[in-house]
Amino acid sequence: LVELRGVHKEFGSLPVLKGCDLTVREGEVTVLIGPSGSGKSTLLRCVNQLEIPTAGAVYVDGVLQGYREQPLADGRLQRLKPKEIDAQRSRIGMVFQRFDLFPHRTALQNVMEAPVHVKGMPKAQAQAQARDLLARVGLAERADHYPSELSGGQQQRVAIARALAMEPEVMLFDEPTSALDPELVAEVLQVLKDLAQQGLTMIVVTHEIGFAREVADSLVFMDDGQIVEQGPARQLIDAPRSERLKDFIQSVL
Ligand code: ATP
Ligand code: MG
Repeated sequence: LVELRGVHKEFGSLPVLKGCDLTVREGEVTVLIGPSGSGKSTLLRCVNQLEIPTAGAVYVDGVLQGYREQPLADGRLQRLKPKEIDAQRSRIGMVFQRFDLFPHRTALQNVMEAPVHVKGMPKAQAQAQARDLLARVGLAERADHYPSELSGGQQQRVAIARALAMEPEVMLFDEPTSALDPELVAEVLQVLKDLAQQGLTMIVVTHEIGFAREVADSLVFMDDGQIVEQGPARQLIDAPRSERLKDFIQSVL
């Protein structure tokens, strides 16, 4: 469903991704781990076109992201129009470390926002959908609360419901629990686990090795802009092949 082929990214002269190849199959959970600065966020951001790779290609559902499939006569690729890029991006949900909800809107209004304003969904339908989604993340009772009235874990669950409201084919999570107090981490991981069981395709950057071992199908270890190891999560965690992965797992356990 998601495929990265030889993705490179440089910021000025700084190479951050140095040729990453990754395939995420439909319905699978891929957990991405690696030291700070190894390029995990940048890789995720390339998937939903918050960053444009310097070289290489990203495909979602077999569709090249950001460019026309047919090159120009001289062989160069042609960028899509901003509207076409937005359409591609709307099929990919993303949840960040910091739950950036609209502070002056209730949980329900936050979840309704994109379907109404981006998709033009009728308000009544968006509201019904938002209630369902909030129930799915265990927040049916909190629908009319403002973000400031919710705990960090609850806010993050609203952010997840909000991303799901656009019915994405893939969900990207960038350290969704690392800004939370320890006692709130489990409730958010439980939501991710439920979504995984419902067959949602997800790529999750997290240092929660226990979650990775239990929930992920595939584990990807990045270091210094490269994918150093990838394979079945449990196998890699229990028997890492490289010293670098072994050391990394020790450091986060
Ligand atoms: P962390 O675990 O700390 O979140 P990460 O693996 O997600 O790290 P990235 O955020 O992808 O790492 O960053 C990789 C490198 O790219 C870092 O050296 C960072 O400073 C650099 N970088 C990221 N974004 C930019 C940017 N917009 N401009 C310049 N450099 C950037
Ligand atoms: Mg990061």
